[in-house]
Amino acid sequence: MAGGGGLSMMSMIETLAKLADYVVGVGSCAAFGGITAAGDNVVEACGLAFDGNQKGGLLGAEFRSKRGLPVVNIPGCPVHPDWVTETLYHMSSGEMSGDHLDEFTRPRAITKNLVHHGCARNEYYEYKASAEKLSHLGCMMENLGCKGTQAAGDCNLRPWNGPGSCTSGGYPCIACTEPGFEEPGHDFLETPKIAGIPIGLPTDMPKAWFVALSSLSKAATPKRLRDNAVSDRLIERPLSKRKGDRS
Ligand code: SF4
Ligand code: SF4
Repeated sequence: MAGGGGLSMMSMIETLAKLADYVVGVGSCAAFGGITAAGDNVVEACGLAFDGNQKGGLLGAEFRSKRGLPVVNIPGCPVHPDWVTETLYHMSSGEMSGDHLDEFTRPRAITKNLVHHGCARNEYYEYKASAEKLSHLGCMMENLGCKGTQAAGDCNLRPWNGPGSCTSGGYPCIACTEPGFEEPGHDFLETPKIAGIPIGLPTDMPKAWFVALSSLSKAATPKRLRDNAVSDRLIERPLSKRKGDRS
């Protein structure tokens, strides 16, 4: 219940949404239900226009604000501050239309990239040189549950607060921008596999390619990457072409 007025938050939102030019779901809870909807969900939490990945939510699938747009979802747990300010700017300058939203009514400006794009660990990924624990430098997809190849978001192209992102900070992406991220069906730091191949394969290439390329690239992994991938700091650097500069 909202303080003092005897009204529930849900009824207040329903009333205000009818009057608003735009309605924005900020954060994964407002967009899809998020952490609040996990488990038994005794509070019946849902997003404003989605319940997980299903259309509907509090305001219903057909909701449109006065400017004719569905709820604009800016997911994230927490949400990237730039995504909020950029979206509000596009709305206030009249540059936001339905064409600018994806299938979960998230701004395409945010979701046109995957978290994997721009990750500093891409060289390790290409050669499948994988970290085995959190402090290691290698790619975290194979052993530590990283979903950067499946998660929409430009977290590594538009770093947080300067240079920050989950993966640059040494933590795998748990796909917090995707509906249902809160209940992946396994530990966040675990990569479920079948016959040694991760179940969650990249969304930016055909699966058969990934499987074929994986075994090829594993066979060709440079020693430098193989060693650095399971180290807490760089222990081998690229060879210099200058004579005598091998230290
Ligand atoms: S750690 Fe994750 S985001 Fe980074 S290269 Fe590996 S799979 Fe991609
Ligand atoms: S890197 Fe992944 S878990 Fe981290 S904020 Fe971006 S989408 Fe969310």
